[in-house]
Amino acid sequence: MAKLLKTKPKALLIDVTGVLYESGLNKLIDGSLEAIRLLNSIQIKYKLVTNETQATREGLVSKLRRIGYEFTADDILSPGPVCRDFIIKHGLRPHLLIHPALNVKAEEAVMIGDDINSDVGGAQQCGIPGVLVRTGKFRPERDLNHPTIKPNAIVDNLLQFVQWMIKSN
Ligand SMILES: [Mg+2]
Repeated sequence: MAKLLKTKPKALLIDVTGVLYESGLNKLIDGSLEAIRLLNSIQIKYKLVTNETQATREGLVSKLRRIGYEFTADDILSPGPVCRDFIIKHGLRPHLLIHPALNVKAEEAVMIGDDINSDVGGAQQCGIPGVLVRTGKFRPERDLNHPTIKPNAIVDNLLQFVQWMIKSN
């Protein structure tokens, strides 16, 4: 854990589905509620990102409230100008943009997600380190030997990453 990443991030982009809850099951992922509580207590900036394009931010907030999270619509990322052209050109998910409210450089943030292609690969293409969680759609046989994408770090779950951040203070 000591060398998870060279530097501690100044801001986090956190994928929702497969990181905060299991898709379809609407079930919490172990440790995630605790991880968000810890993040709030150390006051690090973060935004949630989602590929559920059909859901409004308010709809997602209510869904997350039902399983125990207390977010507001402001916690959910809406697309900003950074990296937009790249993302559109390559058909990536448009939420992989550093929100102006986070006010950090791409390399000072970290994207945490369960999708090696769109979360980790997409973030890395934009200069944002990508951390893969072993939850949600993570599949070891496919993701640990990916031909082109190497995550900056791989963690058991969001809580493990947050605990590393706190220890590396
Ligand atoms: Mg996901």
